[in-house]
Amino acid sequence: VASLNPALETSGGRKRKIAILTSGGDAPGMNAAVRAVVRAAIVKGCDAYAVHEGYQGNDTTLKGKITLTTLKRHRLGLVDGGDMIKKMEWDDVQDYLSIGGTVIGTARCAAFRERPGRLLAAKNMIKKGIDALVVCGGDGSLTGANMFRSEWPSLLEELVKENELTAEEIEPFAHLNIVGLVGSIDNDMHSTDITIGAVTCLHRICESIDSISSTASSHSRAFVVEVMGRHCGWLALMAGIATGADFIFIPECPPHAGENWRENMCAEIKRHRDLGKRKTIVIVCEGAIDSELQPITAKDLTDLLTERLHLDTRMTILGHVQRGGSPSSFDRILASLQGVEAVEAVLASKPDIPSPMIAMCENKIKRVDLMKAVKLTGDVAKAIGRRDFEGAMELRDPSFIENFKHFLAISSSNPSDTNDNTQSLRIGIINVGAPAGGMNAAVRAAARYSFNNGHKVFAISNGFPGLIAGQIKEMKWMDVDGWIAQGGSELGTNRDQPSLDLGMVSYQLQKFNIQSLLLIGGFEAYTSCIEMYNARDTYPAFCIPMVNIPATISNNVPGTEYSLGTDTSVNSIVTACDALKQSATASRKRVFVVEVHGGKSGFLAVMSGLAVGATSIYIPEEGINLARLQKDVRHLCRRYAEDAETKNQGRIIIRSQEASKTYSTDIVSSIIKEEGHQQFDSRTAILGHVQQGNSPSPLDRTRATRLAITSVDFLVKHARHRSPGSPNVAESSSGPEVFNKDPESVVVAGLHGNKVNFTSVEKLLKHTDLKNRKPTHTVWLECKQICNVLARRTDLM
Ligand code: ATP
Repeated sequence: VASLNPALETSGGRKRKIAILTSGGDAPGMNAAVRAVVRAAIVKGCDAYAVHEGYQGNDTTLKGKITLTTLKRHRLGLVDGGDMIKKMEWDDVQDYLSIGGTVIGTARCAAFRERPGRLLAAKNMIKKGIDALVVCGGDGSLTGANMFRSEWPSLLEELVKENELTAEEIEPFAHLNIVGLVGSIDNDMHSTDITIGAVTCLHRICESIDSISSTASSHSRAFVVEVMGRHCGWLALMAGIATGADFIFIPECPPHAGENWRENMCAEIKRHRDLGKRKTIVIVCEGAIDSELQPITAKDLTDLLTERLHLDTRMTILGHVQRGGSPSSFDRILASLQGVEAVEAVLASKPDIPSPMIAMCENKIKRVDLMKAVKLTGDVAKAIGRRDFEGAMELRDPSFIENFKHFLAISSSNPSDTNDNTQSLRIGIINVGAPAGGMNAAVRAAARYSFNNGHKVFAISNGFPGLIAGQIKEMKWMDVDGWIAQGGSELGTNRDQPSLDLGMVSYQLQKFNIQSLLLIGGFEAYTSCIEMYNARDTYPAFCIPMVNIPATISNNVPGTEYSLGTDTSVNSIVTACDALKQSATASRKRVFVVEVHGGKSGFLAVMSGLAVGATSIYIPEEGINLARLQKDVRHLCRRYAEDAETKNQGRIIIRSQEASKTYSTDIVSSIIKEEGHQQFDSRTAILGHVQQGNSPSPLDRTRATRLAITSVDFLVKHARHRSPGSPNVAESSSGPEVFNKDPESVVVAGLHGNKVNFTSVEKLLKHTDLKNRKPTHTVWLECKQICNVLARRTDLM
């Protein structure tokens, strides 16, 4: 990021010309990637180009042998050149963030697979003076890109030999820079945890299945839903977790061929029905197979459920609905960060460095070896082909196997009978603080997982006041049915803490013999843990393991990179800002100052600002002063002066609620209005509690499930039984059976990169700014600089 200061980048005295193309299947977020590449290139002093229609548009008229002569007769993408390769200016990509698909077009191109196609593409690039190509596409597109680079010297040689170019013309282009961005809805690329478009696709699938679920419940029907993924089950797996499906079929872990899986599935679904479930959802990936590689289709499964279980079963093939629509905030942010990094990689490229692919590993943007990634991606399909399913699973990203195990662990209603009474724990679950998307999903997963492992789960209603009043009830597997898609808090939540009445909190925990406690909530849940931890000497009932699963839209709990609810919240802010921007553009010359929540943490402001392309972002970490407001006004004056001839674009400024005590949202907006004179005006939009969102996003649902299951494992591990086999303590006055005073037994469950880590509150206290209710260090703050780059705020960089 530091190196992103504007500087004229030249290559041998020439201005660098960087082109981007999108290729293969379209993926939501590709436009955000194009925008980021174009803008980062311009900020770096380079010229940016977009290659329309991928390697080659409409090549259906191409017949017979592909030669240089036949190709030249056609009007085709990179292979054609000409006006298919267009210079891009800053404002050309103005609206790109919110648009699905790819504006510059994509295609599958037979000609580029053949050398003559690549020969012509090389010629066209040189004619336009382009010396670097960023390719956004799937593994096929990136394979082609890499082949193009490796053949480059020989392509140039041949072009000279064939008199297509002169030696002087090729001389400055001896080395071609290629950088890959992975745009693919399947999330099937190796060496990256996530690809551009996959999360949006998951949104579409979950929205569809949520809709199907309500009709399924109404009519007590079964639905078999086919989702995309020819060789990769990521979408089916994550959708299975995020929608609470009964069964999933993925190619990496197929059921054993034969009769057994059919019987197992029917038995499982019957068990769910006997428990009172009114709907059945089975998700099948389009590439699903059995262990003998025989396809398992949606039709087979529909027939099976109809014939064996006599369920009214319907089949839904989601098809291209999955690809469509406006990108999720996650994909906009991912593509923006990766696009900027792609330009950095181009400028750092050397002839002896292998072509890089921009990846996301452990929540960090990284460069990896493109060709290695492509090879390892192919290895998954090969492993499946030779029925090495274990190998195929291992080749997926590290959390794939864990997610699959988690799905199995809670999708079935299978109370374990291996746990005798002495092993069985009594686990209390409580929600604390403001509601956040994913709270219910976490309660559901914790309850089902605990239940399936022979533990008893107690729902504590209405936070600590509820606990004090003894509102505690044992939960069963079906009690949480449907909770995964519910926003808010089904248990009820509020900001009160144990200090309200520590004695009564302790009394009730003891009375119900709660042997471990799961607190799902934000900063109040964290400080509740601290209060009880500090009172352990006085109240032995607090000498039990406790885990805080961070759930707050402010993302201000120490010990985690993300809290539950943040993704849902950023998505709702982005949806609101897209509408405001549209209104502002329609009204002409309007700047919306949008106020967002977040307390003293600017997380929501920065992330939503990045996802909507905000002109300026005010956060508590930086504050607001007159000098900054002046810069913003000057910037707006300049931009609206440039816009004057065109459409006077609407603009968004995001202001964190607590960015400044003096410069309120109203005051900021009034200053902008006043200083804008006739050039532009300003309105405010205070989003308020809308930001908590409605139904939780798929990411919050899957994160909640993962955190809940790993937290229950933690609680069980840290519960030390004092008196094995003692009677039911609900009727006993002998105190809790579990007694653990170890500081490491009161923790925050944090997401760090790809892992869940548990850190004791005692350790975290050293990294907590208690006054401002947030961690002393945050990683997301670095993204603010990328917002500045993409808004051309060189005055703030
Ligand atoms: P998706 O994941 O959506 O399928 P993809 O990029 O894998 O995207 P493909 O159809 O496999 O989609 O590839 C897109 C284009 O990349 C092809 O039409 C072709 O032009 C080029 N391409 C693919 N493989 C090669 C190859 N081995 N050599 C040269 N070009 C290739």
